[in-house]
Amino acid sequence: MSNAEIQPAELRCGGPAGEGASPVIEVLTARQVPLGGPRAMPVRRTLPQRARTLIGAWCFADHYGPDYVSTTGGMDVAPHPHTGLQTASWLFAGEIEHRDSLGSHAFVRPGELNLMTGGSGISHTEVSTPRTTVLHGVQLWVALPDEHRATARDFQHYVPDDVRLDGGTARVFLGTLAGDTSPVRTFTPLLGAELSVEPDATVTLSIDPEFEHGLLVDTGDVILNGTALKPTELGYAAPGGGTLTVENGGTGTARLVLLGGPPFGEEIIMWWNFIGRTHDDIVRAREDWEHASDRFGRVEGYPGDRLPAPALPNATLSPRRNPAPATKDAR
Ligand code: MN
Repeated sequence: MSNAEIQPAELRCGGPAGEGASPVIEVLTARQVPLGGPRAMPVRRTLPQRARTLIGAWCFADHYGPDYVSTTGGMDVAPHPHTGLQTASWLFAGEIEHRDSLGSHAFVRPGELNLMTGGSGISHTEVSTPRTTVLHGVQLWVALPDEHRATARDFQHYVPDDVRLDGGTARVFLGTLAGDTSPVRTFTPLLGAELSVEPDATVTLSIDPEFEHGLLVDTGDVILNGTALKPTELGYAAPGGGTLTVENGGTGTARLVLLGGPPFGEEIIMWWNFIGRTHDDIVRAREDWEHASDRFGRVEGYPGDRLPAPALPNATLSPRRNPAPATKDAR
């Protein structure tokens, strides 16, 4: 997926987090952003935002659908670059055809992780297939730590098993949860899982106390550690707790995506589809893309032009740090 904002802000993300008293759940709401495509399919973005820029190394979370492709035209993202990050595609419904400059040609389908590593530079396309009537899923980005951000391009595909929980199921696509571990390599410890919670059930998950977590609600009204979350909201839990409890008081199964990782600890700068450490990193990546440098390679098989980079802001924008988690002053 490409960040389709016309004037993307340059965001400095990360930085020191606060020393924690007991964490409370912060509710992060989504903002609507038009994605590319014939009729600009809308997506709901919960990361990054002013209140929170990273959860572990997760630095970007777009949630879309159920999107009726006959109405919106679906997804059609022309060749565009990435650097310094991995993209994780996870669908609930529909199918996306992926092509990249590594030569990968893959179909992204529900319940199957597709993880693309941009490293120093990659380019790709994402197009919903003609047999897709409803498109529904998430597109997530993972920031690469400084020592690995120029790593080689890579593409991995993984289909996790359903793990039975008391009150639901989990599909662990990255990291470890409920006794299941994904074999997919990440460059920092990460957790990524789809959760289903049955009606009138409560799921209790043991989590790594070093991790911070985000629970994105796709369907259902749930209560996360005592805080109500509605569909499209992301509940943030700071490090320090050993369990997450997710209660579904509704009449339908709740579907959620759980993200986690230890606080990233590095400041990054995100602009458009690039992650760097300095303004100059971003300027260079943009120039390399605009000059069709080998850095990003070429995508074969897409019937159209590549996406031009937006204009850079005139000045480096003021840094935005990841704020300290909210804390309870009484317990
Ligand atoms: Mn992309």
